[in-house]
Amino acid sequence: MDLNMKFDAVYFEPGSLTYPLGKQLKEQFAALPWIPIESHNSIKEMQEKPNSEFGRMKRNLIIGTRKTHKYVENHKVSDYLVPYTSSGCTAMCLYCYLVCNYNKCAYLRLFVNREQMMDRLVRQGKKSERELTFEIGSNSDLVLENTITNNLLYTIPRFAEEGTGKITFPTKFHMVEPLLGLSHRGKVIFRMSVNPQPVIERIELGTSNLKQRIDAVNEMCEAGYPCGLLIAPVILMDGWRTMYTGLLEELKSGLSSKVKKQMFLEIILMTYSYVHRAINGDAFPGAVDLYDKELMTGRGRGRYCYRNEAREEAELFLRSEIRRILGDVQILYIS
Ligand code: SF4
Repeated sequence: MDLNMKFDAVYFEPGSLTYPLGKQLKEQFAALPWIPIESHNSIKEMQEKPNSEFGRMKRNLIIGTRKTHKYVENHKVSDYLVPYTSSGCTAMCLYCYLVCNYNKCAYLRLFVNREQMMDRLVRQGKKSERELTFEIGSNSDLVLENTITNNLLYTIPRFAEEGTGKITFPTKFHMVEPLLGLSHRGKVIFRMSVNPQPVIERIELGTSNLKQRIDAVNEMCEAGYPCGLLIAPVILMDGWRTMYTGLLEELKSGLSSKVKKQMFLEIILMTYSYVHRAINGDAFPGAVDLYDKELMTGRGRGRYCYRNEAREEAELFLRSEIRRILGDVQILYIS
């Protein structure tokens, strides 16, 4: 899939053009129609579109300011989830967790008040008695976003210089070249999300392929960034054991010894929902159906998770294959 995004139109809050990033985007996308909106949170025209338009809706760029800055406690790789410079994404992973929050409006929104968000991040770090880790990429994919905004070129050196603690973000994209030479002082933990290539091709539509992701994490590690890998989400579809063994073997042969020595793993089993099914059914009629009523709990209009027996079996399998193939790598959690 072509990762060069071509947008159809820009929907913007007029106030965003007073910020440096707003001005930069206005110049960058001068050739597109710019449509003023009252709020990025409710664009009536978008809300009224049918689910079948989901893919096309992602070809619009939404620009505004972030007004809610509430940090949410987290107990995984970070201490807090921090709302940062974007939400949504131009890719179309069929299970994307953002669809639970934004429904069919999971398109990319860029928030131009990054100085304000970074100031707060610096203040929060200083206020704490212990060193905190802030997850800044839980609402979008910042490596992808960076190709449009250069926000990571702003964020990484500034946090390295002024921030206390660490920031971290996961990605499914490989475009890390602009990040390699930045000053990060070891304060930025880079996490690459991986899945078997057949899963990427059929389900993670519009993301980088496995080989590109492996090369990118090798490069980031070589540039001194602390690095981890997420195997996420694990999808228990036909042939999953063979596919995940294949993935681990590709990681073994593709990852540099430097990555293998210092990396950690996070493993997350897929969660799905009625909303995903409804949107995917209309927008991607030929795509694989990720709902498996034998293996999943949840019925009706809610969320669907793998049943405990299926989870336990997957966990045992993955732990034993990871040990057999990758050795004693640290697994932070399987959830
Ligand atoms: Fe969602 Fe991440 Fe996929 Fe983008 S890359 S569609 S944010 S899961």
